[in-house]
Amino acid sequence: MRRMRSGWAYLLAAVLISVAAYLSGADPVFAVILLVLGVLAILVQKGDEQAEVSFVAPPEHVADEAEDDEPVLPVILSTLSALDLPVFIIGRDGMLRGQNFAAEKAFGTLSPGQHISARWRSPSILDMVRETIATDEPNQIEHSERLPSERVYIVRIAPVPQSAEKGGEALFLLSFRDISELRRLDRMRSDFVANASHELRTPLASLRGFIETMQGPARGDPKAQERFLAIMLEQANRMSRLVDDLLSLSRLELKAHLAPDQKVDLVPVIGHVRDSLTPLARDLDVEIRLHLPEDRVEVLGDRDELVQVFENLIENACKYGQEGRVVDVYVRNPQGGPVEVSVLDFGPGIPAEHVPRLTERFYRVSVADSRSKKGTGLGLAIVKHILTRHRARLIVKSAVGVGTEFTVRF
Ligand code: ADP
Repeated sequence: MRRMRSGWAYLLAAVLISVAAYLSGADPVFAVILLVLGVLAILVQKGDEQAEVSFVAPPEHVADEAEDDEPVLPVILSTLSALDLPVFIIGRDGMLRGQNFAAEKAFGTLSPGQHISARWRSPSILDMVRETIATDEPNQIEHSERLPSERVYIVRIAPVPQSAEKGGEALFLLSFRDISELRRLDRMRSDFVANASHELRTPLASLRGFIETMQGPARGDPKAQERFLAIMLEQANRMSRLVDDLLSLSRLELKAHLAPDQKVDLVPVIGHVRDSLTPLARDLDVEIRLHLPEDRVEVLGDRDELVQVFENLIENACKYGQEGRVVDVYVRNPQGGPVEVSVLDFGPGIPAEHVPRLTERFYRVSVADSRSKKGTGLGLAIVKHILTRHRARLIVKSAVGVGTEFTVRF
């Protein structure tokens, strides 16, 4: 306003001077120039003033919006409630301001106003939070919890951008990404590679040993060579069984999410499996007895994979239950109930502590026993994979000294 007034003063002065100049007989052009200068002074002044106003104050509608804004915290909380990642909101004082549903589910309800150290005592979490609060820079660490169950998290803290800009307080998001399952899969993968290499290395070492013996001490001994060649063939067969099983597993993993959709009648499938295992059963002096219904028993499935399931189960029953001399196979299709196929043997049974682990890759009750029976330790893992794809279950009942029953329930 002060500058506005001085503009008008210039104009007034210019008018007075030009009138005085005109009256005192000066050149009228000079008087007009003075007048024009006065008007220009006012215009320049106005332009300056407008520029100054728009720079200093925000446009009116922006100021209105800021006033109408809801408080920041409830807005953030309602947005986070849709997220399945546990998130806590804390203030610069390290006190809790809120948590989303996922955080409540994972860690229980913490009351607002509680310091985060009341829930997490881990120095690495607390140091990280302290550092971010001091620097406003995001940070993350890996954190494991043992109780109530073993879990591994990536814990991250980051400032909420602009939370303090509208007169509110500075807020920070503390999130917990659960990577326990990823870690478990990583561990399983590396265990699997270690086991597979170990299983292949043993027959390979034996092959190499026999080759060296035949090149050296047994060079001129045809009888020994014949014996060694038989063992070498057995070892090579063992390696090829192992590679076949590994390939089956990896093929099954690739299509694990695709449920099979052909109609397969289980009665001829079981008949086919019995026929293919008859030579083995005869060698082991075991009788395979089938108990089949008259009618068709159809399930949605992949015929070749179902053949593999029942081959593995019946072959195991013959090998490990050999002393029972009989293997019974029942196919049941009760009215309104699930289709079931049970394979029973009357062998030594499986001690209860081994039962939950039987379908793990390379898990065997006795490694020596399995090897002597040409086992790879992958048969039941393959069965489990196929059944998972078929949305079917494997139920194992076993009593030591009585026998074992494997049931597939579709
Ligand atoms: P393997 O190739 O060693 O037979 P599997 O995965 O088929 O591997 O079986 C895993 C282990 O489960 C076997 O090594 C054996 O110890 C045990 N097992 C499987 N079936 C039977 C059975 N019918 N009776 C007793 N033990 C069994």
